[in-house]
Amino acid sequence: MHEPRDPKQESARSPEAVSTGEEALRQSKALLDGTFGHKGGDTLVKEMASRFSACVRASDVVARLGGDEFVVLVQEAGDVEQVNTVARKILSAAVKPMLTAGQECRVTASLGICMFPQDAQDEQALMKNADTAMYQAKAQGKNNVQFYSEDFDAQSLERMDLESSLRQALPRGELLLQYQAKQNLKTGAISGVEALLRWQHPELGTVLPLRFLALAEETGLIVPIGKWVLKTACEQNDGWQRQGLSRVVVAVNISARQFTDELPGQVAEALHASGMDPHLLERELTEGTVMGNVARVVRLLGALKQIGVRIGIDDFGTGYASLAQIARIPIDTLKVDRSVIRQIDGNTRGDSIAQAIIAMGKALNLTVVAGGVETPEQRAYLSEQSCDEVQGYHFSKPVLKDALADLLRQHAPLPAR
Ligand code: C2E
Ligand code: MG
Repeated sequence: MHEPRDPKQESARSPEAVSTGEEALRQSKALLDGTFGHKGGDTLVKEMASRFSACVRASDVVARLGGDEFVVLVQEAGDVEQVNTVARKILSAAVKPMLTAGQECRVTASLGICMFPQDAQDEQALMKNADTAMYQAKAQGKNNVQFYSEDFDAQSLERMDLESSLRQALPRGELLLQYQAKQNLKTGAISGVEALLRWQHPELGTVLPLRFLALAEETGLIVPIGKWVLKTACEQNDGWQRQGLSRVVVAVNISARQFTDELPGQVAEALHASGMDPHLLERELTEGTVMGNVARVVRLLGALKQIGVRIGIDDFGTGYASLAQIARIPIDTLKVDRSVIRQIDGNTRGDSIAQAIIAMGKALNLTVVAGGVETPEQRAYLSEQSCDEVQGYHFSKPVLKDALADLLRQHAPLPAR
């Protein structure tokens, strides 16, 4: 990096930006390669570099730090507004679809901005504060821009604390699973359960996944944690059956970082170890995870299907997955996101979005599950639309294994005649 002469510095981090340090940069590139293939990862980085360069003046600097991280130096910027405009341009440039290996894919970016001289006076501090701001941008959901603020330093310390205790969570046995039932709308029986991760923190109490999953992903801890979740959920499902309860499908979430070439092998191993019937396992992937290189997604999901595992798309209606993409990948279930279900309130437009997604899922021969169903009105509407299953607080919140066993007793499928 050049020593900035009149630096108003901005750090732009491209898709799924991770933490500082060489290891994190290596991991971030490995994640890109995992998602887009090695060649696809390189093409993506080059394409982003040229897009970012097109957003700035010739006198500005665009540099790649490594992995998927870029630094943009905007020199002699007039004011904060001007830097903000450049940042917004970079963000828009990043999210435009691109072709890798003949497939359309989209990525998101998180940008942290640090201004000279008000936020930092030397190159090291500029980089550090831009990095902190970038984490804040990420924490607010991807595709965000954040200017540095001194308050972030306290939050950054809190993050380091959380990271060190998360490293201990698995060996100390602080992780546990809750299970949330899915109910068949026609029969009223429980058709499946979703395993949801909880962290019993010694001081903070129960910590929900949204507070620590991004951190687990950035640090790579999601890999051992994910293996533990899968093993525990399979063993539990087998345990319910040994208690004489009905056979249900257990769904286990996968985040993008877990969607690697090793996944089918890990799943086969967990199934083998638990002795659970593969047809009783479903892996739930978010729309975002399946939006990468379609050929690779099809290959990996195909390998899972060959083992006998069901595949579900989670949070459908929140991402940008196209109908063509969904139609090409081998899935069994489409879970409509809570944000779509929440709009069912008698308002015609809100209702019609849910209606259209359900119709699309049915046309593709998929089992359609409505997530986050909270009211009897939503349930009645979904039933009218021939939605197959519901999940949400109206039927049951996530509960511990014994409470789930009780629910299974109350809502067992009718015995086959
Ligand atoms: P998700 O897979 O979409 O799971 C549904 C989330 O919505 C859960 O939050 C659940 O408690 C909540 N929920 C269910 N019904 C309702 C409802 O009627 N109203 C409201 N307001 N909320 C409802 P939770 O347990 O906090 O999990 C959040 C996310 O964390 C999950 O979203 C999933 O993406 C992720 N997650 C959870 N466990 C795991 C895991 O083991 N591995 C991975 N990779 N991700 C996980
Ligand atoms: Mg889920």
